[in-house]
Amino acid sequence: MVNERMLRLGEAKSDIRELFEFGLALKKERGEENVFDFSIGNPTAPPPQKVTEELLRLIQETPPELLHGYTSAPGAIDVREAVAKYIETKFEVPMSADLVYVTCGASASLVIALSAILAREGEEIVVPSPFFPEYSVFVQAAGGRLVPAPTDENFHLDLSAIEAAITEKTRAVLYNSPNNPTGAVYSREEICGLAELLRKKSASYGRSILLLADEPYRELVYGAPPVYPMAVYENTIVLYSFSKSLTLAGERIGYVAVSPQCEGAHTIFSAVCGAGRYHGYVCAPALFQKLIKGCLGASSEIGVYRANRDLLYGALSDMGYACTVPEGAFYLFVKALEEDAKAFSARAKEYGLLVVPSDSFGVGGYVRVSYCVPRAVIERSLPAFRALFASYRKSETV
Ligand code: PLP
Repeated sequence: MVNERMLRLGEAKSDIRELFEFGLALKKERGEENVFDFSIGNPTAPPPQKVTEELLRLIQETPPELLHGYTSAPGAIDVREAVAKYIETKFEVPMSADLVYVTCGASASLVIALSAILAREGEEIVVPSPFFPEYSVFVQAAGGRLVPAPTDENFHLDLSAIEAAITEKTRAVLYNSPNNPTGAVYSREEICGLAELLRKKSASYGRSILLLADEPYRELVYGAPPVYPMAVYENTIVLYSFSKSLTLAGERIGYVAVSPQCEGAHTIFSAVCGAGRYHGYVCAPALFQKLIKGCLGASSEIGVYRANRDLLYGALSDMGYACTVPEGAFYLFVKALEEDAKAFSARAKEYGLLVVPSDSFGVGGYVRVSYCVPRAVIERSLPAFRALFASYRKSETV
């Protein structure tokens, strides 16, 4: 006997992972160069030089028992202090080490923050859609209900849709900017507007609605940096990850930061610690805790992703695909050439193109193309995209 819910989750797999595994098998069958895997968001820009230097220095200079041993459950205090100081200085907001919990990337941050704040079964988390598919799993695991609020035609916040989604059961609004899967970066005006709305709704329901900001792509922007949410809304929890900014996705390191201006900040933080314990997310990888202390503020070169974005967006638009230009992250959200995105993704596979249907992102009719791949993959894939487009024109005329 096993847990039914876990069994279903384990057997269902995520569309992204499934496509990624399919791609590995297809490469064996057809050859590496004939498969164009745009399925997964695995960062490819080289980590900053600082990361390599710091890693070597730590290994050479730290006694092994100190390098690899347990730290305190919420992270080593010197690391938490460094993160708090970085946030204070960089974003000009108050922060303190005793509200920073170092953990295993944004996934763990989301799991424990959601488990910490959802007090009653059936409480709701409003999420602008489309959204990162794992949100559904994490919200459900924490006993909550995810309520999607559609974004506008350019995938920016639609405040009236968010307002309509908020009820007396709403515990938080969870947003992700720069956005996976659309590449949208919400403007200062949008986040300020959201803050105003949350204040109004909190007042009318007589309890604070939290803002959860999932920020693994914060540094990956092609224009102005996004506003820091704590600077515009008091009841904010930031979920940060070094996966993408330092190209460290496999090392599992990030943090939860609860704003000191949050109502009941220390109680929320204690619940975050409890959730970390409950889920086994204590003492994040010790070597990488030490590493991030020396690399705060460093970031992988975004030029690689910008060049890929320009090439892919330009080429696909010229071919006739409809897509909006990504403002950040490394995803292009492309309108499928038929209503059923799954059928479109299946047809794309025949051309060696692995693109993720949008259904698991909470909307139909699109595919996500993850362009954090070597440039040569994009260049080689363009004839396949062209042939895929032509195949639809052909089926229209027969
Ligand atoms: N949130 C979003 C929006 C993501 O795209 C990802 C990963 O792709 C995560 C969270 C999880 O990131 P991590 O690798 O830090 O767990």
